[in-house]
Amino acid sequence: MTPIDRRRALRTGAGAAATALALGCGGPGPTPGGPPPRTPPSGPPSPRPAAARPAPAPRRFPGRPGQITHGPRDRDRVALTFHGGGDPATARAILAEAERAGARITVLAVGEWLDEHPALARRILDGGHDLGNHTQHHRTLTELPDAGVLAEITACAERLRRLTGSIGTWFRPSRTHIATPSLVRLAQRAGYPHTLAYDLDSLDFTSPGATAVIRTVTGQIRRGSVVSLHFGYADTVAAMPALLDDLHRRGLRAVTTTELLS
Ligand SMILES: [Zn+2]
Repeated sequence: MTPIDRRRALRTGAGAAATALALGCGGPGPTPGGPPPRTPPSGPPSPRPAAARPAPAPRRFPGRPGQITHGPRDRDRVALTFHGGGDPATARAILAEAERAGARITVLAVGEWLDEHPALARRILDGGHDLGNHTQHHRTLTELPDAGVLAEITACAERLRRLTGSIGTWFRPSRTHIATPSLVRLAQRAGYPHTLAYDLDSLDFTSPGATAVIRTVTGQIRRGSVVSLHFGYADTVAAMPALLDDLHRRGLRAVTTTELLS
């Protein structure tokens, strides 16, 4: 299979995933009247984290605000951050493209996505990437009472802990770009000193075509940028090589969010 064929195949598979996901991390809430979110039964058997070292735990970065939108503007580093959901083939393809280019990324995983694809948690960590929490069901957190928000955060944290030995290094709220102060506090109560927002939205979840994704990101990226991207979309997969080439040409290194802030 040529790379083009592979991208075509992914596009076909990702179409359904994209439709199911419908909206990006920062988009408005889900369409009312949609099917209720599935609650996994007892869940598929999880791979034992036994032999593997526990994944890194969340860290406090002194001097940084509770909500992080970007990194230092005086260093040649950026963070590519991904909504962890959708067709797992797109996740694997993006991880492989990043690794080919020597890039590290940050994946904010949706808990029910991890329930369906538990092996991806270790796959992400094994590639040297950051893995974090993006709520259990990707609901509109700003529409939930505090208890509901906390339940969404802790349910995903529990999945991560079971699969990796850690609740993940970052938390990003679902369907809201900028977290409210209350959301930041609830995330802190769940164990995440910082909530991860972003300062560059690739808009890849609107499926505008790979060229548009590349143009949006390369047109706005600068030192310290935290870029919002998504697994589950063929455009994102197709855009990765050109995006990574562009960063390389500018001397910008794509690093994990932890490294961006360290
Ligand atoms: Zn999202």
